[in-house]
Formats: sequence, structure tokens, C-alpha cells
Amino acid sequence: MKELLIIGGGPAGIAAGVYAARKKINAAIVTDVFGGQSVVSADVRNFIGFTSISGLELAENMERQLRAQDEIEIIDGDRVISVEEKEIAFFAKTENGKIIEAKTLLITTGSKRRKLGVPGEEKYDGKGVAYCSTCDAPLFKDKRAAVVGGGNSGLESAVDLLPYASEIFIFESSDKIKGDAITLERLSKENKVSFLTRSEILEIRGNGFVSGIKYKDLKTGEEKEKELEGVFVEIGWIPNSDIVKNIVETNKYGEIIVDHKTQRSSHSRVWAAGDVADVLYKQNNISMGDAVKAVLNINEYLNSRKR
Ligand SMILES: Cc1cc2nc3c(=O)[nH]c(=O)nc-3n(C[C@H](O)[C@H](O)[C@H](O)COP(=O)(O)OP(=O)(O)OC[C@H]3O[C@@H](n4cnc5c(N)ncnc54)[C@H](O)[C@@H]3O)c2cc1C
Repeated sequence: MKELLIIGGGPAGIAAGVYAARKKINAAIVTDVFGGQSVVSADVRNFIGFTSISGLELAENMERQLRAQDEIEIIDGDRVISVEEKEIAFFAKTENGKIIEAKTLLITTGSKRRKLGVPGEEKYDGKGVAYCSTCDAPLFKDKRAAVVGGGNSGLESAVDLLPYASEIFIFESSDKIKGDAITLERLSKENKVSFLTRSEILEIRGNGFVSGIKYKDLKTGEEKEKELEGVFVEIGWIPNSDIVKNIVETNKYGEIIVDHKTQRSSHSRVWAAGDVADVLYKQNNISMGDAVKAVLNINEYLNSRKR
């Protein structure tokens, strides 16, 4: 039986793996892929120690550092699909049918994009519907694009589209654009950007490729249509906490509730760090620091059981 199983190989999981190995904890890490969400980022400029680095290079560096440790078992290309607790052990079952037994768990599964759930979204995913402006904005050169969501992610998405799209429509269901004032000010100066507050998306239309968006003007109740070629969905994230919802407490967003001094969850042998936890700011540096904190606390816990 492993002393620790780390689930998820983004920045949090990798940092945890390196620290667990250096503390000589008998640990394993399981992940489908290494690197996490910012792997798609063309240019990460706030990762301490690098003035500028691509998300992919950052992910490769992190994975290399983890693989340089010989104290940890690495299971990649696989996902945990369920976790069960029996007496003092957890049994994590993977997609490939592996069962990993561990005394403690560190959940670093991060989060995934929230979808609109309207007709046409799935059909035109990758055919005009996009979830990563950093990756896909250049595909909309001289095209009209909608950004759904007026929070920070939505505004950042619109900024990414500025050098490419001919027109940008920012749809927001509430009556206020909630993103940073400074980015809002910048976008407001652009003639090609318009803000459609109190607008609810009803359908994404197309003919092989996105051709328009149908929405409801919540001020008048009127249903309207806008012709465009791209829809960037930026309405938030869903924490990947489903696999442990039966054993730990989560908040209304589905984030695992942790003690922020130790990262320990409501279960005394389960810790969580990174975007899956109820941390206020979702950032690479923060998720790594929190994961390190978790491993140090897990190490103390394991040592205290040996005394
Ligand atoms: C486009 C983009 C750009 C960003 N740019 C920056 C930036 O410039 N600077 C910054 O600080 N932050 C940035 N962020 C935020 C940053 O990427 C996240 O805060 C960070 O990745 C969180 O790390 P994490 O390890 O908690 O989770 P994640 O990065 O989400 O990693 C979780 C990992 O766990 C794996 N996983 C999930 N479920 C399972 C399972 N059941 N079994 C096994 N493995 C599983 C996933 O495949 C993934 O590899 C960006 C995010 C995005 C989307």
C-alpha cells in the first residue's frame, strides 16, 4: 500500500510529487496528462523564475523535474474514475482498470471549462465554438466573434481577439461587465468591440461551421440573432472533484473545502490543492505552493503515525 496517492499532474500535482519524493514518502502520482491548464498558453509571464515561457515548455520542464526523482511511482496516460474507502485505506480505480491502494490522498485534479449547454454548442465545438482564446484567436482573422461571459476570462478573451477579429461582441447575462476595470476601459476604446449586457444565449447556429448566435434580450424579452463566425465560451470553471465527492465536503461551486493552513479537507486523510480546492485565486504559482504545503503536512501526519 502507498503512503500517499497524488491524483492529477498539473502544476499542483507535479510540485507535490517532487516534494513527496524528496521527503521519501512512498508515493504514487496518477494523471492522464502532465502540465495542466496553462499548457495551451503561448506565453506565461508570471511564473516566477522565468520572464517569459510557453505553457508547453513550462509543462515539459515540470514533468522532467518530476521524472528526475526516483522515489515516486508515476502512472500517466490514465485517470482515476472512483475512490473508495475501506478501513484505513483508499482504493482508487483507474480507467485502465488499475486499483491503487493508499493511506492518504492528495487531490490535485484542477478544473475544466463550464459549457453553455445550448443547442449547437457541442455540434460546432472546434467548428467556430472555442474555449481557449490564447489557442484559437488567430483562427478568427477578419471574422466576427462573440465572447460569452463578461468576467475577467471573457475580457481577456476579447483582448486576445483584438488583433484578429473584425468585430467582437461581448455577451453578459447580468447588467454589469464584472471583469477588471482596466481591461474594460481598454476594450471600451475599441470601435470594433460591443457589449451586450442582460443577454442570454439561446442557440449557436451554423451550417457546417458557426454562422450566428441566437440570444434573448433580457431587457425587452425579445429574441434576436447576430451573424458571426466564432463563439468563445468564457463562463467559468467546474472543479474536477467528482471522484471524491463521496468522501470530502465541497462548497456550492464543487470546490473541495480545505483548511488553508494545511490544505487538509474535511476528511483527516485527504488533502487538496490547486484549482480543485476552495482557493480564492487560481494561479500556477499558488497551486504549486499550496500543494507543497499539503505534502509537508501529509509528511508530518505520516510521521506522527509511525511514532
Ligand atoms: C489558457 C490558460 C492560461 C493560463 N495562464 C496562466 C498564467 O499565465 N499564469 C498563471 O499563474 N496561471 C495561469 N492559468 C491558470 C493555471 O493554469 C491554473 O491555476 C493551474 O493550472 C492550476 O493547476 P492545478 O494543478 O491545480 O490544476 P490543472 O492545471 O487543472 O491540472 C490538473 C491535472 O489533473 C489531471 N486530472 C484531472 N482529473 C483527473 C483524474 N480523475 N485522474 C487523473 N488525472 C486527472 C488533468 O488532466 C490535469 O493534468 C491559466 C489557465 C488557462 C486555462
